[in-house]
Amino acid sequence: MSDSVITLECVSKTYGRGAAATQAVADVSMRVARGSWTAIMGPSGHGKSTLLQLIGGLDRPSAGRVMLDGSEIGSLDATKLAAVRGRKIGFVFQFFNLMPHLTAQENVEVALWLGGKGQGKARALDLLGRFGLRDKARHQPGMLSGGQQQRVAIARALANDPDILLMDEPTGNLDSAAEAELLDLLDELHAAGKTLLMVTHNPAVAARAERVVQVKDGRIVADTRHENG
Ligand code: ADP
Ligand code: MG
Repeated sequence: MSDSVITLECVSKTYGRGAAATQAVADVSMRVARGSWTAIMGPSGHGKSTLLQLIGGLDRPSAGRVMLDGSEIGSLDATKLAAVRGRKIGFVFQFFNLMPHLTAQENVEVALWLGGKGQGKARALDLLGRFGLRDKARHQPGMLSGGQQQRVAIARALANDPDILLMDEPTGNLDSAAEAELLDLLDELHAAGKTLLMVTHNPAVAARAERVVQVKDGRIVADTRHENG
């Protein structure tokens, strides 16, 4: 067995209380092998983003355990958790979560700074250049299209060369040329041994993954592996 970089044991997440409670994630157990590429699919509102946020340590489960590289996220104090997130995980949010008052370049630089990486400016420009955004480096997110913001968010997620990339619908706003480029980049990252875990509605993206996990009502209802990955 290859080792698991992510392990979920009976993880549930409930938002709110009493009659207003929503169980977003219901008793999910899964292991994600190091270096694997997994797509999470399922209808809207069925807990995919919540699941990814629990894995990324951005939210805490109501029950169960989330383990990252052998340590339970819940047992880490805030400083340790921030360090793990900063160095090991790159997160691409469904709605980008870029800082609106910073330029594209500064958004990437902040990530580099949080990850303790030097040469922020040059590396930030280099990353933006990889996504065809060098001439947009001084633009604030509000001046960029959805697809451009998504690419800034992806550049930011890659800033610290993380082992694990968690991406929430990373092609949702990309045109077909940008999507094809991102798919090539994901192939490259996969070949370099990164662990890729992404929520997607896009069959072309899911087709490149080695494993497709289907989520419904907060539960895993199917888990399929194929070879091509
Ligand atoms: P998906 O990503 O599959 O569309 P989500 O994980 O965003 O689904 O949401 C799953 C369920 O949890 C939905 O019913 C949603 O309304 C609810 N939910 C998500 N985040 C919150 C929150 N912060 N507070 C309350 N309910 C939430
Ligand atoms: Mg979502």
